[in-house]
Amino acid sequence: MTIKRRRFLLRASQLLGSLASACFACGHAVETGGAGATARAEPYPLPPKPLSRAGQITLFVCGDVMTGRGIDQVLPYPSHPRIYESYLKSAIDYVLIAEEANGPIPRPQDFNSIWGDALEALSQSNPDVRLINLETSVTTSEDYWPGKGINYRMHPRNIPCLTAADIDACALANNHVLDWGFSGLTETLATLDQAGLAYAGAGADLAAAKAPAVIELENKTNHRHRLLLFSAGVSSSGIPTNWAAQKHKPGVHLLPDLKEHTLARVSAQIEAVKQPGDIAVYSIHWGGNWGYTIAEAHQRFARGLIDSAAIDLVHGHSSHHAKGIEVYRGKPIIYGCGDFLNDYEGIHGHEQFRGDLSLLYFVTLDLLSGQLIRFDMIPMQIRQFRLNRASDKDTRWLAATLTREGQPLGTRVIETQGHQLTLDWH
Ligand SMILES: [Zn+2]
Repeated sequence: MTIKRRRFLLRASQLLGSLASACFACGHAVETGGAGATARAEPYPLPPKPLSRAGQITLFVCGDVMTGRGIDQVLPYPSHPRIYESYLKSAIDYVLIAEEANGPIPRPQDFNSIWGDALEALSQSNPDVRLINLETSVTTSEDYWPGKGINYRMHPRNIPCLTAADIDACALANNHVLDWGFSGLTETLATLDQAGLAYAGAGADLAAAKAPAVIELENKTNHRHRLLLFSAGVSSSGIPTNWAAQKHKPGVHLLPDLKEHTLARVSAQIEAVKQPGDIAVYSIHWGGNWGYTIAEAHQRFARGLIDSAAIDLVHGHSSHHAKGIEVYRGKPIIYGCGDFLNDYEGIHGHEQFRGDLSLLYFVTLDLLSGQLIRFDMIPMQIRQFRLNRASDKDTRWLAATLTREGQPLGTRVIETQGHQLTLDWH
């Protein structure tokens, strides 16, 4: 049996265990006695992941994976559809709006469906590690955060929609993970634990929220490496300040600012964890949703993470569309991945940014130095709550847009064979 297969079986058995103990009765469950009612499960130790290429590691990263609200409604176990937005009161309305724009979305979809063509792209690219920004709570909690306006949740029984794509770890320091209160956060973390998904950026206290997700890796000569995923957010992305985890309070890893003293504190934390042979990703939720401008503070902080914290990839997100990419001292900085999957179909405004186009990022690094070897992207379009290969025209548009935005950063994006894009930073 391959290690990958064993990992799958471990996850499947953990998930079955979680479902049995949660005792969910029906799709529209409103019970509060799910995973959140129990103490946090200890993550089951997974065997190291085998690295497929000698001396290299390929990471898959993407932006916001928003499987709550409308998308949750088309999955096999939809949450209670009640939402508390100023205009819409049912998550089903987001399905209806999308259907009006792009045609019917049969319900229920299976767990693979939302990934669409991305599953084939992932299996062809065969990354060693798969990382996402999970931009939703995963809970049956009814404890919606009052006054927030937008409250994202996915039913815990829909968690196989993440394991379907063999996701390894999720960044959680974002502005939706606490949308259904602290009970919702607790259940989100327990659900991820039980599904065998690692995470960083939120936790039962500040130490847990700051701690990286650690993925053990093994190369062909049986040398061990680790992938460290750190996750943090700043309030410019919409994270309420009272979501910040504290010494004895659960929450997200919220940075007070991006100034020198914060960078020094973050760097000291990373330095205390990162060992020779580790590859470290800093995932950060920052800035607004629309616009290509890269804040000077973001650039300074990202470069600082590379200079003083030996970060190998800065994984920025929050913008609903892809932004310019920089390679600084041989280390990539993705300032804004763009949304990967959302329920915004049919909602108008900001069309010029083409938020319907999303990217799978494949970043190949030298395993010892962390230096960038290759940076590829595969463009998709979200239609009918599914990722579909982007058209030739849209692929060209993305290449031109990312080249325009990359110019001041010293990068351009070239279209290669088969709807792929590659970054040129030399
Ligand atoms: Zn966000």
